[in-house]
Amino acid sequence: MNIEQKSFPNRLHSWLTPKCERRQTIGKGIGLFASAAFVRNELVAVWGGIIITNEELAQVGSVFPHVKTNAIEIYPSFFLSSVSLTSIDDAERFNHSCDPNVGLKGHLVLLARRAIQIGEELTIDYETISISVDESFSCRCGQPNCRGKLDGSIIRNANWVNNNRGWLSPVIADQAFASFNEV
Ligand SMILES: [Zn+2]
Repeated sequence: MNIEQKSFPNRLHSWLTPKCERRQTIGKGIGLFASAAFVRNELVAVWGGIIITNEELAQVGSVFPHVKTNAIEIYPSFFLSSVSLTSIDDAERFNHSCDPNVGLKGHLVLLARRAIQIGEELTIDYETISISVDESFSCRCGQPNCRGKLDGSIIRNANWVNNNRGWLSPVIADQAFASFNEV
């Protein structure tokens, strides 16, 4: 067993930087916190899993809701999902923030969007990755720019898309630009 596996016993299918630790948050469950500083664009995690279809995800998600929540659409109707129905990989522990310090680059790689200080919670903007109206939830990130409700509709907001240029999943980027072309 190496040091990473000791630090992250719930490593199922992803790589997660050893420069973070799990902690209980107030009101948001478990989160990941920087145990060392990060420079901008530093590697934070590489996601893995198994590929399942929309139908398979619907079936599994009806019994194991957390699997549906953590699945990432990597092509329309195809999702990267956990290899386990009952355990959560530590790299799936990122909480949402409307002002995130970690972002998705391509399909699987998470990088620091800016310099991160020791002790900061590592967060991603869920709507840059995948979210749909039927999974909408109220945000409690507490940031000044908090959007309140997350339902995927923000991809129609040109300012938001511009601010997140380079940090949108390929599927979300395609949906965002398609929504502008509808006008
Ligand atoms: Zn928020």
